[in-house]
Amino acid sequence: ANRAGSADRGSGAAWVREVDRAHVWHPYEAAATAVGTRPSDAPFVVRRAEGTRLHLTAADGTEHEAVDGMSSWWSAIHGYAHPVLDEAVRAQLDRFSHVMFGGLTHEPAARLAATLVETTPDPLRHVFLSDSGSVSVEVALKMCLQYQRSLGRPAKRRVLTWRGGYHGDTFHAMSVCDPEGGMHALWGDVLPRQVFAAAPPEGFAAEPDPAYLRHLEELVAAHAGELAAVIVEPVVQGAGGMRFHSPAYLRALREITARYGVLLVFDEIATGFGRTGELFAADHAGVCPDVMCLGKALTGGYLSMAATLCTTEVAEGIAGGEVPVLAHGPTFMGNPLAAAVADASIGLLLGGDWRADVARIEAGLRAGLEPARALPGVEDVRVLGAIGVIRLDRPVAMRAATEAALRAGAWLRPFRDLVYTMPPYISDAADIERITGGMLAAARASVGA
Ligand code: PMP
Repeated sequence: ANRAGSADRGSGAAWVREVDRAHVWHPYEAAATAVGTRPSDAPFVVRRAEGTRLHLTAADGTEHEAVDGMSSWWSAIHGYAHPVLDEAVRAQLDRFSHVMFGGLTHEPAARLAATLVETTPDPLRHVFLSDSGSVSVEVALKMCLQYQRSLGRPAKRRVLTWRGGYHGDTFHAMSVCDPEGGMHALWGDVLPRQVFAAAPPEGFAAEPDPAYLRHLEELVAAHAGELAAVIVEPVVQGAGGMRFHSPAYLRALREITARYGVLLVFDEIATGFGRTGELFAADHAGVCPDVMCLGKALTGGYLSMAATLCTTEVAEGIAGGEVPVLAHGPTFMGNPLAAAVADASIGLLLGGDWRADVARIEAGLRAGLEPARALPGVEDVRVLGAIGVIRLDRPVAMRAATEAALRAGAWLRPFRDLVYTMPPYISDAADIERITGGMLAAARASVGA
């Protein structure tokens, strides 16, 4: 395959962009071929990332220093190039980088597993370390289906979720994403057919809606004989629309699923590690799921790693079945570099005052986003923990919005009708002001105000 441009290896932002345009796929984008052009054509080139700052070069060669309002999609909670995390990777690199996990184990994985078991609700005691959030969801659903099979209930192999959710891009994970989204439109004929409840009514502090509680109960009851599990994102539905809901619905799901012999999976990939103001979003409800998925901030955003935790009841159920093994074993399972930095990241989080950091950011986002309510085209403004969202009455003008935010000094990546942020917890008041200023600018640029 010929590379575009000269045969020489180049360098610099212009060369990076040239190769990128010719050969590299980006998330949810078309390949740049003769028959298709990318909707957001020219990605910014990252030259350096440090603290809360990304150093970027734009297509026209201009350089920007932007506060990262995205934490690299919920993950870089301690910011970039953190000395403690850098050192954790380096120290492990001096010992070994990766070894297979079949038949071998090592201290970084053991330390991380011990930390996760200590940190998550008590009944979660068995840890499967995989390499991405989507895979941790696959593992979670596989555990649930296998558990039911092992217990002699093979008909229980469907999964209930609520609309408006997002759980990843692999096929089983896609099957529990919002059915109105692109995944189902394109893949409806190949995805497993799951059961969808309505999206939970919005509002973290809203009183639970009795009609919705009845809806959940009736749907689980009606499908109990074929349901292996219910999977939901607790408190915040992220990539499906940045919607918040009452923890009361999680308590209801806990009670209903237990009653009907259905397992409950909480996907805390986005919400885990303090983002919503509690260490885990499930803590708002005071309930423990049977299976929990973690990812993103698990490694402080340093390396690709995710975890699926389950209760002893689930693990024993599987172990007691006709096929006692869980048939899943990715090559990079338990990656030592990722495990070492994950354990360091959790240590950094718990060793600091993350509650105060998140509360401070929440207050800054509330104050800074308040003026958005008066903007034309703004439908809703919502803040919870270190998450801030402006919802417009129309799709965001991506390019104009991104550039307006950059001029205000913030890196944002709006989607659909949403301009949103989940900044690193180390963001100070000035960082948050830049981010909220960038969000207002992005909203204005989208509605032509
Ligand atoms: N579940 C949730 C709630 C997520 O937000 C994401 C990532 N946006 C995933 C699963 C998938 O994780 P990954 O992108 O690491 O595969």
